Amino acid sequence: MRILILGGTAEARALAQALAAHGEYEATVSLAGRTAEPLPQAVPVRSGGFGGADGLARYLRDADVDVLIDATHPFAAAISANAVQAAESANVKLLALRRPPWEKVSGDNWIEVESVEQAVTALGDTPKRVFLALGRNELQPFTAAPQHSYLVRSVDPVDPPLAVRDAVYIAARGPFSEEEDRDLLTRHEIEAIVAKNSGGTATYSKIAAARALGLPVVMLKRPALPDAASVATVEEVVAWLDHALTLSTARGV
Ligand code: NAP
Repeated sequence: MRILILGGTAEARALAQALAAHGEYEATVSLAGRTAEPLPQAVPVRSGGFGGADGLARYLRDADVDVLIDATHPFAAAISANAVQAAESANVKLLALRRPPWEKVSGDNWIEVESVEQAVTALGDTPKRVFLALGRNELQPFTAAPQHSYLVRSVDPVDPPLAVRDAVYIAARGPFSEEEDRDLLTRHEIEAIVAKNSGGTATYSKIAAARALGLPVVMLKRPALPDAASVATVEEVVAWLDHALTLSTARGV
C-alpha cells in the first residue's frame, strides 16, 4: 500500500518511523521545504509545494498513492484544504492526524486572538518585553508595535531581522523542557508571550513555564480546518491503515 504523508510535524516523523518499521507500507513524506535543514526521516522525502489542489491530485495519480495522510501542522490550513480536494478528485483515501488543541487550566492567563494582527493589538501600547514563539514568516506584523522589546525563537534564523528597535533572536528547534523555558523567560525578563495553540507536547513547555511564572499568553486560536476523517494519534493512524489493508486484501485488491 502506497502512502503519502503530508508532514512537517513531530507526529508525521513518528508516523514515518512506525510505517518504515511495519513493513507492509511504502511511505513517502512530503515537506513544505521551508526549513533549511529538516530532521532526517525514516522513509523517502519529497519537498516543496505541489502547485495547489490540482498539483497534489496529479502527484497522487502519478505516484499511484493509495492513502493520503494529512499530518501537517494545525495552522497549515491551506495544505489541509488542498488534501481534501485532491484526495476526492484523485479518488484516494484520506485520513487526517489532528492533535487536540491545548486547553486552559487553572493558573493560565490566556488572551485568545484570531490572528497575528490581533495579537499585536492585544500586547497594548505600553512597552513590554515579549517572547514571540511563532514561525519566522509570521513576525512581520510586530513591526507595527516597535515600542516592545522582542525575544524571537525560531528554527531557522530570521533574515532580514525585524524593523524594530530591540529584538533578540534565538535559532533553536524543540522540544524544550519547562525548566529550560522558565529559565529563558526569566533571564530575558519576559512579561508576555505570543504563541499558537499548536497542541501536542513538543512545544507545550513555554505554556507551562508561563503558567509557573504567572505570565500572560496571547494565544492564537486555530484556523478552521476542512471536514475530513481524523484521528488524534500515530497509533490510531497505523490501526486505521491496518484495517484498510485487511479490507483490501480480503477484496483481493
Ligand atoms: P499552509 O499555509 O497550509 O501551506 C501553504 C502552501 O505550502 C501549500 O498550499 C503548499 O503549497 C505548501 N505546503 C504546505 N505544507 C506542505 C507539505 N507538507 N508538503 C508540500 N507542500 C506543502 O502552511 P504553511 O505556509 O507551511 O504554514 C502555515 C502555518 O503552519 C504557520 O503558522 C506555520 O508556522 C505552521 N507550520 C507549518 C509547518 C509545515 O511543515 N507546513 C510546520 C510547522 C508549523 P502548494 O499549494 O504549492 O502545494
